Amino acid sequence: MKINQKKVKLKINPTQKHWVGDGFHVYTMFHPAGDMYIHTTPFVMMDFAPPKHFPPTDQKLGVGEHPHRGFETVTFAFAGEVEHRDSAGGGGIIGTGDVQWMTAASGLVHEEFHSREFAKRGGDFEMVQLWVNLPKKDKFTKPRYQGVKARQCPLLNPVDGVSLKVFSGDYAGARGPCETFTPINIYDLRFEKKAKFKFEVDDGTTLIILNRKGETIINDEVIKEHEIAVFDRKGEEVFIECEDMAELLILNGEPIDEPIVAYGPFVMNTREEIMDAINDFNAGKMGTLVETYK
Ligand code: MN
Repeated sequence: MKINQKKVKLKINPTQKHWVGDGFHVYTMFHPAGDMYIHTTPFVMMDFAPPKHFPPTDQKLGVGEHPHRGFETVTFAFAGEVEHRDSAGGGGIIGTGDVQWMTAASGLVHEEFHSREFAKRGGDFEMVQLWVNLPKKDKFTKPRYQGVKARQCPLLNPVDGVSLKVFSGDYAGARGPCETFTPINIYDLRFEKKAKFKFEVDDGTTLIILNRKGETIINDEVIKEHEIAVFDRKGEEVFIECEDMAELLILNGEPIDEPIVAYGPFVMNTREEIMDAINDFNAGKMGTLVETYK
């Protein structure tokens, strides 16, 4: 182990999936229980729905109207299509390789379903939903919706047999299209064959790697399929070895070292702000979807 390597601090490999609504069968890879947020900040929560076949249906599969405040929900579609609509006027459909970056901030309600087309057709579905915290100063900024297509993201081949797609932040000067409030680099990294790949992140930043498919060795630790590695903030270098093929999601961000109180769909800094969020939602201040129905 070299002195500057980032050390794997935790490996998490949940065994139990649960349903989010009736469309998303997910492993919660991490959430802010205990002191977990200290290791994952600015990322609050990750749900991973591994590949699953859905037969054709006329039903709407997913989650109906519900609120969020104080953070961003980021949805990556790896297979299948997700349709979204929110009370701030944002909405759209994302398909394979696309990402939807929704800033809830001051508060909104939204719904998340398999797209009607995809549900009718049926097929394999795989996605990740990540909750990204906002610093205290930005929690009451106005909501924003970014629907980003795969083709808008730089796709690089840093070494033979390895591809790297930049969703946000940058890699070797290639900038991802998703705009963020704090510095965040998110990459889709794929090995097509036996290969080694090395990259660096800034010292003091959070790094989390999800092995969506395949097995890798990262800084001397074996990371299995459907497992995440959470790294120590110290260090910069990351060495990934793959014997065969693998698909990884790489999350790197500057920590937001502020206290958080997370309750249901709200992520705030104090208990009082959570109470305000509940009251504001109940009073209809986060809007409704009826107003935005065409
Ligand atoms: Mn939601």
